Amino acid sequence: MHYRQTRAEISPATIQHNAKWVRHTMAGGKLLGVVKADGYGHGVGPAVQALESHVDGMAAGFMEEALAVRECGYTGPLVILEGCFSSSELAICAQNNLSPVVHCEQQLHDIEKSALSKPLWVWLKVDTGMHRLGWSEEQAQQALKRLNVSNNVAGVTLMSHLANADAKHSLNAQQKQQFCQLSGALKGYQARSFHNSAGLLNPDTRWSLQENDWARAGLLLYGVNPSVITEVQPELQPSMRLVAPVIALHQLEKGESVGYASAWSAERPTVIATVAMGYADGYPRQAKNGTPAMIRGKRVTLAGRVSMDMLTIDVTGIDDVQLGDDVELWGPNIDVRQVAACADTISWHLLTGVSGRVPRVIV
Ligand SMILES: *Cc1c(COP(=O)(O)O)cnc(C)c1O
Repeated sequence: MHYRQTRAEISPATIQHNAKWVRHTMAGGKLLGVVKADGYGHGVGPAVQALESHVDGMAAGFMEEALAVRECGYTGPLVILEGCFSSSELAICAQNNLSPVVHCEQQLHDIEKSALSKPLWVWLKVDTGMHRLGWSEEQAQQALKRLNVSNNVAGVTLMSHLANADAKHSLNAQQKQQFCQLSGALKGYQARSFHNSAGLLNPDTRWSLQENDWARAGLLLYGVNPSVITEVQPELQPSMRLVAPVIALHQLEKGESVGYASAWSAERPTVIATVAMGYADGYPRQAKNGTPAMIRGKRVTLAGRVSMDMLTIDVTGIDDVQLGDDVELWGPNIDVRQVAACADTISWHLLTGVSGRVPRVIV
């Protein structure tokens, strides 16, 4: 029973629609649906169920997340993006048919030294300029050789990750060139993977994916454009709608202020609606005055500081606003990218940050 109307509406149908669209933009290759961080905040169950017949594999962040995906009944290829933190996880990979990323000497060493019941398909991560995880160009051939002679390895996918795919940056073309060159020169791998969501759209990083190229798409599957440089993608359908009710209405005179720190003052007689959504629900406290929201089909704006359980919006001039009215904080009508921009953050942060006290309602 939920006594509070606040909720995140999750639409599996749009996730499937978006997956089809991503496949269409890829033109070929294989699609790895990224469902880490509880399916980008949508709930791992709904995300996995929506995606299982629309992707060629899935990816989780770490072991607990991968096992949660298996518990949803998914039996296809499943990659652990950070790989294993200790050798004890490798046996669990073998049992559950999981593909760990191998990005460092310790992980490679653990694979060489283990006695596994079944060889693993591993993803070898090379560093083409992000300098977060992965082997250098020089180390990669040696690492591949060692994987190739290990009885614990069934196959290798060569991967790298883009640092700036969501923007215009000189590193984009450089990383692409380096990955193409590297994958042309290296021997002993069976597939490769370079693109995240933004990389699929960015003209400096995209290519027509071939049979053995895997795209690793997260954000696009949830209907949000990752990029600030590519135009709006009208085909994308946001799969999360964050909604909360109006729980109070206040009439303010000119000069009166609202909320903590009196951070917003009325410049004219104003109607303020208080909404049951706060930073403890995952709405960003940094959201500025003017951040958009929607009520009764009309765009309105945030007025005053976001507090733990509530926020306040200016509904002056909106006809017939009533207690209990739904306010959309982001979703099909309010672009989560805009809310993110108003809070100096990114869409990924907002979607994955919706907290556990917000019920996910499947629509
Ligand atoms: C999270 C993640 C992705 C997916 O990123 P999106 O921008 O959401 O598409 C791809 N690759 C790696 C290594 C990741 O960690």
